[in-house]
Amino acid sequence: MGSVKEYFSNFGSGLKSLIQGLSVTGKEFVTPKITEYYPEDRKTYKWPERFRAILELVYDAEGNHKCIACGTCERVCPNGTITLETKMVDTWDGKKKKKLDKYIYDLGSCTFCNLCVINCPTDALAFSNDFEQAAFTRDYLVKKLNYLPEKPEPAPTPEQIAKAQAEKQAKIEAAMKAKAARDAAAASGASPADAPAAAPATAEDKLAKAIADATAEFKAATTDEEKAKAKEKLQKLVAIRKAKTGK
Ligand code: SF4
Ligand code: SF4
Repeated sequence: MGSVKEYFSNFGSGLKSLIQGLSVTGKEFVTPKITEYYPEDRKTYKWPERFRAILELVYDAEGNHKCIACGTCERVCPNGTITLETKMVDTWDGKKKKKLDKYIYDLGSCTFCNLCVINCPTDALAFSNDFEQAAFTRDYLVKKLNYLPEKPEPAPTPEQIAKAQAEKQAKIEAAMKAKAARDAAAASGASPADAPAAAPATAEDKLAKAIADATAEFKAATTDEEKAKAKEKLQKLVAIRKAKTGK
């Protein structure tokens, strides 16, 4: 008899437990979902703006980026995540200019420390919050950030052309004046050294540069012998300047 009573008692408590469990399940079944609806809501979901998902070169509306290929980001990156390939191009005024060829970024080794972004002198870099970067192979994570076609070098403005022509003309005139002075000195029998200094501004600039270079050489010297050599060179240049300018 005792076992029948025990049987119904256990049955009752089991039934009670089942109803309690089902009531919790039923309640959650009709409660609105509180989890994210991803990926259903990927078009409308707003991710935090400062979330760092992947590095990008910032392009303006005309498709230009501001990278000047200085290499700072490559140097400051603690992981070797950035590899720059550069090239030299000719500019309209006949000079050479270093330009970015390939900006290679390995997302797989980036720690999102942001050092590259904050050290870029031209604000050419930024982090995008485009987080969907999962891939099956690591190769996919190596990206070329300068993905838009490169534009030709901009044509010079009229002001730039005028400035270059004026500089060229000034050089020609200075050279002609110097030559005339030398000829006059030679005709009067004076020593060429007595003639006015050729293109004084240019000569002074060259001397100032030579002194600056020698100073840097002296500072960079590591041995006594190198220091003595650099010091001697510097003293000679200073003596020349003193003889010429009295300073
Ligand atoms: S630091 Fe900026 S400008 Fe310099 S190479 Fe990197 S992205 Fe280009
Ligand atoms: S965020 Fe840090 S680790 Fe990533 S590329 Fe920039 S400097 Fe390197």
